[in-house]
Amino acid sequence: MARVNLDGNSIPMLAICMIGGGGFIGSHLCEKLMAETNHKAVVVDVSSEKINHLLDRSLPWAHRIEFHQMNIKSDSRLETLVQTTDLTINLAAICTPADYNTRPLDTIFSNFIDAIPVIKYCTENNKRLIHFSTCEVYGKTIGSFLPEEYRQDPKYFMLKEDVTPCTFGPVEKQRWSYACAKQMTDRLIYAEHAENGLKFTIVRPYNWIGPRMDFIPGVDGPCDGVPRVLACFSNSLLRGEPLKLVEGGRSQRTFLYIKDAIDAVALMIDNPERADGHIFNVGNPDNEVSVKELAELMIKAYAKVSGVPASSLSTLDVSAEDFYGKGYDDSDRRIPDMTIITKQLAWKPKTPLDELLDVTLQYQHKTYSRAIQRELSKLSN
Ligand code: NAD
Ligand code: UDP
Repeated sequence: MARVNLDGNSIPMLAICMIGGGGFIGSHLCEKLMAETNHKAVVVDVSSEKINHLLDRSLPWAHRIEFHQMNIKSDSRLETLVQTTDLTINLAAICTPADYNTRPLDTIFSNFIDAIPVIKYCTENNKRLIHFSTCEVYGKTIGSFLPEEYRQDPKYFMLKEDVTPCTFGPVEKQRWSYACAKQMTDRLIYAEHAENGLKFTIVRPYNWIGPRMDFIPGVDGPCDGVPRVLACFSNSLLRGEPLKLVEGGRSQRTFLYIKDAIDAVALMIDNPERADGHIFNVGNPDNEVSVKELAELMIKAYAKVSGVPASSLSTLDVSAEDFYGKGYDDSDRRIPDMTIITKQLAWKPKTPLDELLDVTLQYQHKTYSRAIQRELSKLSN
């Protein structure tokens, strides 16, 4: 039966150029596109590791997915791929906070300069663009600068796409190199739309998490690499080491299950009339915890899936400077206002935090525990 969109119109088959489509979000989006739609994915990335399970030529969708190993910084083939597809989704980025203050130049180039040709090709060829921004563009909440009694008022912490200012720390705090580069890209896209008619949608993810996020240091990533918090905590749990809480883990985040998030992206793809010209917060306001609470929940979930007693797992407070180095700073709180996405796409997140942590830690345990055990027993011999 033909699929129909939110307005009851049948959905045409699209060829989608997915830049950075071999990463965490891209891999889940590819899975959904292959299993549930008839769209074609033209994936561009430096690595295909996270989508290799979809690329086997014997799979039923083999004719609908192709992988182009390419660094978009220096590959003239990109323009042709944008020209010959219907929609471009740009996910390519350096997006791990440990890089923002230690590799600020790479961070700024990746999140701003490298996105410029992509935007230009879309405008010049009249192609629709779905661009991945970040909730971090809002920076710190207004409440964080106010006395305690004001901080509980949503008008000082709720982040609204069309109202909230972007509030970053000083230039010396290079943490904000990522947010500032992403903001500049958002502004460039908006300006291309305003002056040259670019058809765009900007997505602002709020801590989407789930299987295949980042890497486990020493197993499928560098030994000294620092991934995002889900993988950092998973790594400590797998090794039986304390989970490190930066500045006591007082920052707060809202976590969204990757499968819920991908449903929102699929709605954007299939409903251009409702998604074009909009910036969407995509998060789960009901899943807010401090990083310390996240650690406690992950300890509980890991104990359940691994059989390791929770009493043997612990946390350790560390300073931001010791953990990330000079120039780190933090977003205090990130709660998405959901008005625009609810109105335009009738999307709502479904999965509670404890459920998504159970599924994710089952995956982490199944995927990594043997490799870590082998590594630990080699060290003890
Ligand atoms: P990811 O690191 O898993 O994916 C990014 C992909 O881009 C990687 O596969 C990487 O190899 C590729 N890439 C980077 N530079 C490239 C280049 N020059 N040429 C070709 N490929 C390149 O990260 P993700 O979590 O999947 O994030 C995707 C997008 O969403 C990013 O733009 C990120 O800033 C944004 N985002 C994600 C989250 C989240 O919760 N996961 C939060 C905020 C923003
Ligand atoms: N964090 C932590 N311990 C870790 C890794 C991260 O306490 O091992 C904190 C980090 O300081 C931040 C939060 O967890 O306050 C989320 O970090 P993440 O790297 O996932 O990215 P962010 O949400 O800051 O973009």
